[in-house]
Amino acid sequence: MIDSLPGQWARVRSRLRAEYGEAAYRSWLKPLTLSGLSGESVQLSVPTRFMRDWVEAQYGERLVNLWASENSNVKKVDILLEGSAAAQVVENQAATLIHEPANQVVRQQDDISAPLDPRFTFDNFIVAKPNELAFAAARRVAEAETVPFNPLFLYGGVGLGKTHLMHAIAWHIRKRNPERHVIYLSAEKFMYQFIRALRYKDTVSFKDQFRSVDVLMIDDVQFIAGKDNTQEEFFHTFNALVDQNHQVIVSADKSPNDLEGMEDRMKSRLGWGLVADIHPTTYELRLGILQVKAEQLEVEIPPKVMEFLAHKITSNVRELEGALNRIVAYANLVGRQVSLEGTQEVLHDILRANDRRVTIEEIQKRVSEHYNIRQSEMYSARRARAVARPRQVAMYLSKQLTSRSLPEIGRKFGGRDHTTVMHAVRKIEELRATDNTFAEDIELLRRMLEG
Ligand code: ADP
Ligand code: MG
Repeated sequence: MIDSLPGQWARVRSRLRAEYGEAAYRSWLKPLTLSGLSGESVQLSVPTRFMRDWVEAQYGERLVNLWASENSNVKKVDILLEGSAAAQVVENQAATLIHEPANQVVRQQDDISAPLDPRFTFDNFIVAKPNELAFAAARRVAEAETVPFNPLFLYGGVGLGKTHLMHAIAWHIRKRNPERHVIYLSAEKFMYQFIRALRYKDTVSFKDQFRSVDVLMIDDVQFIAGKDNTQEEFFHTFNALVDQNHQVIVSADKSPNDLEGMEDRMKSRLGWGLVADIHPTTYELRLGILQVKAEQLEVEIPPKVMEFLAHKITSNVRELEGALNRIVAYANLVGRQVSLEGTQEVLHDILRANDRRVTIEEIQKRVSEHYNIRQSEMYSARRARAVARPRQVAMYLSKQLTSRSLPEIGRKFGGRDHTTVMHAVRKIEELRATDNTFAEDIELLRRMLEG
């Protein structure tokens, strides 16, 4: 089977991610973009010189091996500087080699549009309650012949699928209406382009470039908050497009009103169309995503392990995928399915990070609210039962729900001794065992804190 270069690249990337872990992947490997293949060498480009040198030194050899295992023509990997003459030439040559997921020939894409991830399609997006509104809105915009609402503003926490949905819209439109001019880029890149245009006194063609598009998508717009000149330029571009009834799609980590450092007129205009938020994942959604991804990776993972992951890795989908990839890499390495114990071992760092989701401060806050006392009583020296008991409850929950040690917990409670914390833990355990109402109360608090 001859599959597409982006498909091979996607697999190389997912293996790199599994092998080096999420942090290294995001810092060094994710920023690599595929420019093309010429002869025996694959061209990748990176944004900075330092990155190029580092990636070459640290990951160069592995990149070649992984590529060679995907594509037997490949003997070399060239890492080029983005925007350098070489990278430009390659980009032009490579245009015909790069295919869409459906293997269609795409018209030459514009420089200003960032590359689209071939995995980020509507088909690959799992829909459940937390993201159904955002998904429906994205589909609507992608399918509509006329502009249904302007702008579409998608927002939600990190790793919940905003970029995925935006790429999906772009893929969909490019496939169905190749004549429509769709541009996708991050707010950061928008700023970079703008600054470059200023430097080369080329703002007129910068403006023209953006104002002639049919669909403009700007990802992570919170990035330009506080960056006044870029914001001003974006505001004008935005208005020009909306006035001409061209579709604008924007994403951010917060709702328009909550974007700090954003001018009021900008906030207000961003909220004019449809604002759709993506909520944190639910257990069902996480399990669904794992099942689909495992199917795509063509691996069998015991249901017990899947359920464990869906329970434990609650931060975001990106982490969940990272965990799954690591398990798959591990299973391939040892040549058998992973057990629950194996999973815990392979993922101990990720699991710990997710455990630490609840902080002692949050516990103190929630418990104070629950018992209707001031949060400062958590650190105060007062011993009246009305405040001492809630404080003990908070200490107990801190021990149960975080990985902090007794002395660490004591310090967070007004510098108390670790024996005080130990005493509190024992006292609460005792009460739980003897008082049903109390036990239920604690259970309720725990569930609230664990979300
Ligand atoms: P964001 O832009 O909101 O930070 P991304 O769109 O980059 O998040 O998503 C992070 C990762 O999680 C991507 O690999 C994406 O494909 C995946 N992902 C997020 N939500 C879903 C979903 N509902 N179904 C499938 N994959 C998802
Ligand atoms: Mg994103």
